[in-house]
Amino acid sequence: MKKIGLIGGMSWESTALYYQWINREVQKRLGGLHSAKMIVTSVDFAEIEKMQSQGDWDLAAKVLADEAKALESAGADCVVLCTNTMHKLAKEIEDAISIPFIHVAKATGEAILAENITNVALLGTAFTMEQEFYKSRLEEMGISVMIPDERDRKVVHEIIYQELCRGMILESSKRTYCEIVEKLIAQGAQGVILGCTEITMLIGDVKFTIPTFDTTHLHALKAVDFSLQ
Ligand code: GLU
Repeated sequence: MKKIGLIGGMSWESTALYYQWINREVQKRLGGLHSAKMIVTSVDFAEIEKMQSQGDWDLAAKVLADEAKALESAGADCVVLCTNTMHKLAKEIEDAISIPFIHVAKATGEAILAENITNVALLGTAFTMEQEFYKSRLEEMGISVMIPDERDRKVVHEIIYQELCRGMILESSKRTYCEIVEKLIAQGAQGVILGCTEITMLIGDVKFTIPTFDTTHLHALKAVDFSLQ
């Protein structure tokens, strides 16, 4: 079994899910008392959020590249960055290490293609929905990406930072997210990407008329595939 290195803390609420779901999956596949070999490094999200909102991506890249290097030095066989947004810095992180970096958008794109779907809606932070770094990864795989309108993007983003990253799960926000997904379905979305690792806490259990692609779960499964391959 290979050792999985997690860069967590963005936020720790979803890192806890990665830790739990990776262990569950290893136990499911190997049985008995098996659990995953993992090293978790965890940052202070207040510091990272400040870099994001101030646009200091160079500093954020340095911080995350250093965390990845620390995982490699500690004996990790791969790096899993437990946030979609910070995959904006995937290249800088990958360049800093010589072990594989398991990309969340690639894991998600493969799951989408396996369902024979090519037109999906993306929910995530404003960075993920509006910038190119994430959508382009999917588009390179032949997947078209729809995003909510400007007002709804703002709502989706605010709920992530003001509630989900602080562990608050509100019924009213769940309803709001569901309404936004319904609008995207009406516009032709064939699937919806929960493209922020905390969104699963809010609507991961909702059954829409289209498939849901839970990036936290898909990314965790890819990490297990790597570990046990
Ligand atoms: N966990 C989130 C994501 O998957 C948002 C927090 C962050 O900005 O890293 O994008």
